[in-house]
Amino acid sequence: MISILDLTEQYRALKGEIDAAVSDVFANGHFILGPNVRELENAIAGYTACTHAVGLNSGTDALYLALRALDIGPGDEVITSPFTFVATTEAIGMTGATPVFADIDLNTFNLDPAAVENAVTPRTAAILPVHLYGRPAPMRRLLEIARPRGLAVIEDCAQAIGARVDGAPVGSLGDAGCFSFFPSKNLGGFGDGGMLTTSSAALADRVRSLRAHGGRVKYHHEELGINSRLDEIQAAILRVKFPHLETWTESRRAIARRYNELLSGTTVRTPEDPHEDRHVYHQYTIRTDRREDLQRALRASDIQTMIYYPVPLHLQEVHKPLGHRRGSFPNSELAADTVLSLPIYPELPADAQDVVADAVRRATPLAEV
Ligand SMILES: *Cc1c(COP(=O)(O)O)cnc(C)c1O
Repeated sequence: MISILDLTEQYRALKGEIDAAVSDVFANGHFILGPNVRELENAIAGYTACTHAVGLNSGTDALYLALRALDIGPGDEVITSPFTFVATTEAIGMTGATPVFADIDLNTFNLDPAAVENAVTPRTAAILPVHLYGRPAPMRRLLEIARPRGLAVIEDCAQAIGARVDGAPVGSLGDAGCFSFFPSKNLGGFGDGGMLTTSSAALADRVRSLRAHGGRVKYHHEELGINSRLDEIQAAILRVKFPHLETWTESRRAIARRYNELLSGTTVRTPEDPHEDRHVYHQYTIRTDRREDLQRALRASDIQTMIYYPVPLHLQEVHKPLGHRRGSFPNSELAADTVLSLPIYPELPADAQDVVADAVRRATPLAEV
C-alpha cells in the first residue's frame, strides 16, 4: 500500500531526540507556556521574518484570534475562498462576521484577485487568502486591493509554512499569518497546535491576552478571551522537527518536479510551479475529468489518493444561510469535481513514486483525450 502520507518514517528518524525532549518536559513539570513554547515562537518568528509569533491551540484558533484582535465581528464582511478547508470560514463565523466568497483561479486553486475586487463592499473589513496546497496566493495583487481601501489581510498559512512570495515568507505579507501544526501539515506535532505571526507588537500583545482568557495579568480579565495555548509537549516535539523543515520542503519540491516530468504527456493536468514564488507542496494535486475512474484504478493498485475538497464551502450545509447555490462559484465547483491529490511526503521513496506515476499513466491513456 502506498499511502498519501506516512508519518512513521519521520518519527523513526527522530525518535531518540523526540522521546528525550518529551521526557524533559515531564521531568521539568512545566506544561503551559514554558521555555519550549517561547523558543519555538522565537524560531518561527525568525523563520517567517516577523517580529512576533504566538503559540496557540490550533490553526483554527490562529485565524479566529487574528480576526478578534483586528476587531472584526458582527456587521463585518471577510472575503475568502470557497475552495478551502472549513476552518477558514468557521473562524470568520465564530467572530460573528460574515464570510463573503470570491472565486478561485483554476490554474492555482487560489483566490482570483479580480473576483476579490468585485466582492468588496462598504462592509468589507478584511481579505483572508489561503495558500492552498502550499502554493502562495497572489499576495502582491491582493495587497494592492486591500491597502488603499484600509482592509486587513490575514493569511491562512496552515498548508504553507516555508512558502515564499518574491523571497518574502508567507505569514509576513499581511497583517497576520496563521499556521497549523496539525500532524499532517508540513511541520506537524503529535496533536493539535498552531501559531500566529505578525510584525505588529499591538496585535501580538492582544492575541497573547486573548489566548489566556482575555487578560495580561493572571486573574485580571479585560475582555472575553479563550483558552488557546500551544502546550509544552507539542512545542518540544516541534522544536526537534523544525530544523529539518527546509530539507523536508526541498524534498517535497523535488518529488513534485519529478511527478510533473513523469506525468507530462498524460491527460491529467499537473500543478504548474510558480517561478518567482516558492510552492511547498503540502499536496500534489492534479485535475482530471475522469477522476472516479482514475481513483478507482489507483485504489486497485493499492495507491491511496484523496480529494481535497469534494464540496466547496458555499455549497456546505453550514453555509446555507449565505444563500449560494450551484453555479455561484463555477471555478471552485469545477475544482471540487476534478481534483485528486497523489501521495507526497518528504520520505516518499522514488520507486513508490514510479509506481504511482505508472499507474496514473496506465489509467489515462493518451488515446482517450
Ligand atoms: C489545517 C487547516 C486549518 C486549520 O488548522 P487546525 O490546526 O487543524 O485547526 C485551517 N486552514 C487550512 C487551509 C487548513 O488546511
